[in-house]
Amino acid sequence: MKKQILALFMAAVMAGSLTACGSSGADATTAAATEAATTGGDAAEAATTAADADQESKEETTAAESKAADSGTAGGVLVMATNAEFPPYEYHDGGEIVGIDVEVAGAIAEKMGLTLEIEDIAFDSIIPELQSGKADIGAAGMTVSEDRLKNVDFSDTYTTASQVIIVKEDSDIAGPDDLAGKIIGVQLGTTGDIYASDYEAEGSTIERYNKGFEAVQAMIQGKIDAVVIDVEPAKVFVSQNEGIKILDEALTVEEYAIAVKKGNTELLDQINGALAELKASGELQAIIDKYISAE
Ligand code: GLN
Repeated sequence: MKKQILALFMAAVMAGSLTACGSSGADATTAAATEAATTGGDAAEAATTAADADQESKEETTAAESKAADSGTAGGVLVMATNAEFPPYEYHDGGEIVGIDVEVAGAIAEKMGLTLEIEDIAFDSIIPELQSGKADIGAAGMTVSEDRLKNVDFSDTYTTASQVIIVKEDSDIAGPDDLAGKIIGVQLGTTGDIYASDYEAEGSTIERYNKGFEAVQAMIQGKIDAVVIDVEPAKVFVSQNEGIKILDEALTVEEYAIAVKKGNTELLDQINGALAELKASGELQAIIDKYISAE
């Protein structure tokens, strides 16, 4: 705890010095700098004020504020962008959005002293939402991929998943190779979309839906031959519908992680610290077990 306060304090000092180095004292944005400026000091003095150990308690508040501003979580809120069509990770239950990601993000926010706010948007809008700074984290059963790493940073992974194939029980598709020449349904912009698209070279057609469940419905109606989607949502969809099954052979194994705006190492470090604690305490596993029963 002491260490944390010291880190916060250092952040304030650094914020103060950065401001002092800026060209205009009027641009001072930290609380300490503003305070010093209004009491007759200039920006350089603000840094001195921030470094003044006598003002410790005041600095702690200032430091906490500047830390929140640095990591983009000012206002005591951690905004999570997600697509709540992905049970058991995030889905609507009555009027609420619940699931593994919601609880994991909630536990992380709590450790950071922030309130979690959920933004339910299209899956392929999550990364742009992080880039524009409208959301702080993307938690959406999101697979870490080289391509996405060009646009966002990912936390340490919190679970492993796979892409599976759902077909009708009487389908002649028995494994990945049989997808050649078929009509494959996916959720737009997901890794399922990316992997299924490889089969286009083999004469397959890809139908892209906004929700994974819409792809499953289209298959039940006979409009498409197979659905490629993450294993846990696949299990939920199959359990809710007669006459469909998951093929034994998975297409890929993947890792899920939380995404943040590229370069926001401050927030990333806090998320990774919280995740490590949740792993060590068994809390993460307990959340997963609550939603996914062991076979
Ligand atoms: N894991 C997949 C991906 O990251 C699907 C995620 C989702 O549909 N929410 O693309």
